[in-house]
Amino acid sequence: MSDKFSPTLRLGDLNDFIAPSQACVISLKGSKKPLDKKPDRPQVVLTPKQQLEPVKISLKDCLACSGCITSAETVMLEKQSLDEFLSALTKGKDVIVSLSPQSRASIAVHYDISPLQVFKKLTTFLKSLGVKAVFDTSCSRDLVLIEACNEFVNRFKQASSDDGENAQSPLPVLSSACPGWICYAEKTLGSFVLPYVSSVKSPQQAIGAAIKHHLCQALGLRYSLETLVILSYIVGYIVDPFIGTRLEEIYHVTVMPCYDKKLEAARDDFVFGDNLTEVDSVLTTGEILDLLKLKGVDFKDLEESPLDRLLTNVTEEGHLYGVAGSSGGYAETIFRHAAKALFGHTIEGPLEFKTLRNSDFRELTLELEGKTVLKFATCYGFQNLQNIVRKLKTRKCDYQYVEIMACPAGCLNGGGQIKPKTGQTPKELINSLEATYMNDTALSTDPFQNPIAKRLSDEWLHEPGSHEAKKYLHTQYHAVVKSVTAQLNNW
Ligand code: SF4
Ligand code: SF4
Repeated sequence: MSDKFSPTLRLGDLNDFIAPSQACVISLKGSKKPLDKKPDRPQVVLTPKQQLEPVKISLKDCLACSGCITSAETVMLEKQSLDEFLSALTKGKDVIVSLSPQSRASIAVHYDISPLQVFKKLTTFLKSLGVKAVFDTSCSRDLVLIEACNEFVNRFKQASSDDGENAQSPLPVLSSACPGWICYAEKTLGSFVLPYVSSVKSPQQAIGAAIKHHLCQALGLRYSLETLVILSYIVGYIVDPFIGTRLEEIYHVTVMPCYDKKLEAARDDFVFGDNLTEVDSVLTTGEILDLLKLKGVDFKDLEESPLDRLLTNVTEEGHLYGVAGSSGGYAETIFRHAAKALFGHTIEGPLEFKTLRNSDFRELTLELEGKTVLKFATCYGFQNLQNIVRKLKTRKCDYQYVEIMACPAGCLNGGGQIKPKTGQTPKELINSLEATYMNDTALSTDPFQNPIAKRLSDEWLHEPGSHEAKKYLHTQYHAVVKSVTAQLNNW
């Protein structure tokens, strides 16, 4: 593998494989006996230290999850490496970093500090490298949640009014924020499942769209940050620091919990104009740790800089805020909204999830006057995902919305997160991440009340479901022919 990859990715002795996620779906099924006969499709062999016998995984399996990427995809990943990021800085590009809350939690647990401290220290560190601004994808997540609420209500109404028996029902809506799941749906499930998938972009792509299609659009002079601060005081609102910057000069990097996000950013659907992309590069949380080590930084000792408020969920008092739910809170947010918008029912307090087969498969129902009017599920990990797919195939899926994530335990367990410390089990790490994540978003808020989302709506999108919202916050999916060659070429 190319030495352009960060140490996390560089597994020289493996040709068709990059790195296992922390909880392999195959290992969840139990280790398999080695095959006697020669396999008829590419195989990947994992030999985790704890396991006595190798676990055999087909390429088809790996396409569904976080962590493994085939060699044909490394071309795209090379563009996403730390070297590319550092090179953009050296070339004097206007580099913007958008940080995911899951990555903050992972770094916070690793250094035993709070996610807010992580955010402020990373801002110090990244700006010392020349980064112009550090934003927060919790903010774009609120934007897409609003759009997803609107989409769900419309599809629910459409389903209620559809009387054609042969028409495909617009329900359930399947969430679309996880590229591991989308990759699997496109390559393995194809056209039967794609119409159910929400067309709303992920928070990563939405913040890319906000930065590249909106914030950088105004023409004029470029201002220094000092001038911007003064201007912001004069005009009474935060002035866009990238006013007048040519789009080609903007290099937008996201920090994400999985490698799959790199593949998402590289999709043709997110290319616009003269080969511009909404997200130019994705670094995993682990790669940020590599960068800190590369630069010899004592992270805990770094000063804490003020946060860039333009696209960051932070209150005047300096508290981070966002929805509850470490994988985006899609089911919960849409459930609350739908209860109110469709049935006039306001849900106060925490929702009661019913655990089904395991803690990664949970259900939410709303009963009114003895009738179940809403039935949602959260479904994480490959096994649970296949259960939903089976229900869909046999037309026995009575959920109206399913939040699907490819990684067991969701995004906190992404393959790009910092690995457990010596002596720490993956389970213990997940528990700490969950606790820390909740700490991060101690101020659990309604996306519809987010002042940044409101501002972006006023200035740019106008309202959920508008022409602009459809143009900038929605995407499409493509069923892929199920040959291995086609699979490798299309991502
Ligand atoms: S990517 Fe999926 S199949 Fe491959 S090792 Fe990870 S969990 Fe297992
Ligand atoms: S569940 Fe989250 S971390 Fe895992 S592949 Fe999907 S988006 Fe990435």
